[in-house]
Amino acid sequence: MAIKYIDQMDLEGKKVIARFDFNVPFDKKDTTKISDTTRIDRALPTIKYMLENGAKKIILCSHLGRPKGEMNMDFSLEPVAAYLAEMLGEEVTLTETATDSGIKSLLDGSKPKVILLQNLRFHKEETDCDREFAKKLASYGDVFVHDAFGTAHRKHASTYGIIEYFTEGNYCGGFLMKKENEALTTVVETPTKPYVAIVGGAKVADKIKILEALIVKVDHLLIGGAMAYPFLKAQGKDVGTSLCADEDVELAKKILSAGGAKINLPTDHIVSTEFNGAAENCSTVDIPEGKMGLDIGPNTIEAYKSRLAGAKTVLWNGPMGVFENDDFNKGTFSIAHALADLQGAFTLVGGGDSVAAVGKSGLADKMTHVSTGGGASLEFLEQGTLPGIQALKFGIN
Ligand code: ADP
Ligand code: MG
Repeated sequence: MAIKYIDQMDLEGKKVIARFDFNVPFDKKDTTKISDTTRIDRALPTIKYMLENGAKKIILCSHLGRPKGEMNMDFSLEPVAAYLAEMLGEEVTLTETATDSGIKSLLDGSKPKVILLQNLRFHKEETDCDREFAKKLASYGDVFVHDAFGTAHRKHASTYGIIEYFTEGNYCGGFLMKKENEALTTVVETPTKPYVAIVGGAKVADKIKILEALIVKVDHLLIGGAMAYPFLKAQGKDVGTSLCADEDVELAKKILSAGGAKINLPTDHIVSTEFNGAAENCSTVDIPEGKMGLDIGPNTIEAYKSRLAGAKTVLWNGPMGVFENDDFNKGTFSIAHALADLQGAFTLVGGGDSVAAVGKSGLADKMTHVSTGGGASLEFLEQGTLPGIQALKFGIN
């Protein structure tokens, strides 16, 4: 069944309860200052649409951090309310809690129009997907809008359970949900060939399911980052002191036997004696004793670029090296440039650190889609869908 999205809804005179992912990071020094507003910014089109299309009340809700079911003002949504008010040019009233008795009068009065419920995870019922709590949240609105793609892999009260209390036609996805779902579905279900996937980052074990799913679909799988060493070790190469768990070597052997011919591994490296040490070029595939690989080398970059030439679909998850350090970011940034330069290709970047790396490269707007959901986009790539999306498609019984 097709998902109904917000632009197909009649919001005139309705109270709308809408779930977003406002789980933003804060500045380490000034802990009330949001350090990256991307997640809120990506929610604005849906909120503005509700404001411009006659909604009577707009009740926004989200979690923030992990307050573990207890009220803890370190995780207050107050800074989010202030930022939203500024961006919308509307007063945004933050409630004391998500189930506060004062909410009723806020809903009954003509003002305020925009209400933000305090952090949903102050209630352990949220993560427990408690039915009474879901029912309470549902009672605030005539219509439910799910735009929290970044939390759609969770079966929580506000991302999943709540749908039980709306009849079909009265719940829908927001614009961010639509964009994410369509982009990821394209890559998972109908990738135009040639299809190249680039996988890097830290651990094979965390991404084994994605690798297994990809290996049957892609034309080439390019492996970089710390992901590469278990594969190289599985082939009998020396990896020095690079990050390389024994269990990952076993998993890498499995993947190699499933799709060896499609797998591309680094042939040279940027190494160092320690994690923050001076960078050295290692032009051989074998890494000398006492050295660790921290980025892919120049020959590997060129080889990967030529694999990418002509690709029509590219999926990228996981940096090619320790991109946080300027000495080890060339592999990652070169791949970002190669993707940016591709003509007529569908390029999708997913994963928390990968998205940060593409942001740092300044090339994010050259990609077809940069997914906002770290864990959610990875789970989508593994499973082909998410619980929150299934609920929007089929409801909950
Ligand atoms: P994502 O969040 O995009 O899924 P991961 O969390 O799997 O990506 O991996 C990102 C992390 O992997 C980064 O912090 C990066 O520094 C680290 N990393 C990449 N290459 C290496 C390497 N060769 N050695 C150690 N860490 C690495
Ligand atoms: Mg990560």
